[in-house]
Amino acid sequence: MTRRTDVVVIGGGQAGLAAGYHLRRLGLDFAILDAQAEPGGAWQHAWDSLHLFSPAAYSSLPGRLMPPQPGETYPDAAHVVAYLADYEQRYELPVHRSVRATGVHRDGELLRVETDSGAWSSRAVISATGTWSRPFVPTIAGRTEFQGAQLHTVEYRNASELAGKKVVVVGGGNSGAQIAADLAHDTDLTWATLREPRYLADDIDGRALFDHATARRRALDEGRTDTRGVASFGEIVAVPPVREARDSGLLKAQPMFTRLTRTAVTWADDTTVEADAIIWCTGFRPALSHLAPLGLRSPRGRIPTIGTQAVGEPRLHLLGYGDWTGPASATLIGVGRPAREAAHEIHHRLAGVPRHCR
Ligand code: FAD
Repeated sequence: MTRRTDVVVIGGGQAGLAAGYHLRRLGLDFAILDAQAEPGGAWQHAWDSLHLFSPAAYSSLPGRLMPPQPGETYPDAAHVVAYLADYEQRYELPVHRSVRATGVHRDGELLRVETDSGAWSSRAVISATGTWSRPFVPTIAGRTEFQGAQLHTVEYRNASELAGKKVVVVGGGNSGAQIAADLAHDTDLTWATLREPRYLADDIDGRALFDHATARRRALDEGRTDTRGVASFGEIVAVPPVREARDSGLLKAQPMFTRLTRTAVTWADDTTVEADAIIWCTGFRPALSHLAPLGLRSPRGRIPTIGTQAVGEPRLHLLGYGDWTGPASATLIGVGRPAREAAHEIHHRLAGVPRHCR
């Protein structure tokens, strides 16, 4: 049986919920399909010590401020999960859980979304499937030879699992720095990064990042030069545990090693460090395989968009994957604006409003 609705939103993390909020306000009929059994999107899989890099009020979806977490300036991931679960209920968002979209197909005037539990037919699709289900690990010689444990960011939970072990953390972004800081006291830590880590100034947190993203957005809207986001002044937010480990001299980065052996990591000059475990904090890729039947990906692996709308399929919008679908759209506070734009664009199109009047 194929179910019918105006809009199918694929993914019920923060991006899918923000889209649902705006679709609801516009009175559209829609369904949100989410592969997971519980609310909270990727935040359910965060490591135990992960805290947001912005205070609660700077981490809110449209319509509802995130309440502060008692005793914490920067809320933890469990607080975000609780907030998203409450958000979903408060706005009565129709989330269908444990439903994985397997393919989106053109079907005349409609799009057909195949799932692992039946098909949906709709006039528009918003894809908001995030990146966490596609962890990325770089190719490196000897990776399959290494006999110790290899984890990706998504599998790391806490330092106690690795206490006393020789651990190599790979990656110079926020995940790498935070996990290295988490492990700095209880393990024999090596931190390997492609480039010298670049910390943002200690007084910069997510608030400043968001303000910068907003300024960038304004510049783009006004046709001014793209400031390229915050990458121009650093990558690592010096959250308190990172700052503390760095200032105590426990966070010393090594250049990236060149190969793995059965028991160690090795550099080009034959320097070797024995390792019991390697944690790959090497990022994620957008989870887009369900869109493959539409044939929209560029050779770089992205789907070209104008704003959130796919250039090659105007009935499809992409939300939340990164700056590519709007500045800061992969953050809690930043996804509200592109979600509103996607919902309004769909509303206008379904109502037959000519493009020049939108
Ligand atoms: P997700 O949360 O991943 O949600 C996507 C949902 O879609 C998931 O439930 C998934 O199961 C589902 N799904 C996937 N494929 C399918 C399919 N085929 N069919 C159906 N469902 C599917 N942001 C901030 O604002 N503040 C921070 O402090 C912050 N810190 C971060 C720290 C780290 C270490 C990382 C990695 C990210 C951080 N972010 C932060 C960024 C961002 O908020 C998250 O990555 C966010 O989870 C992205 O939300 P999303 O809704 O796009 O994707």
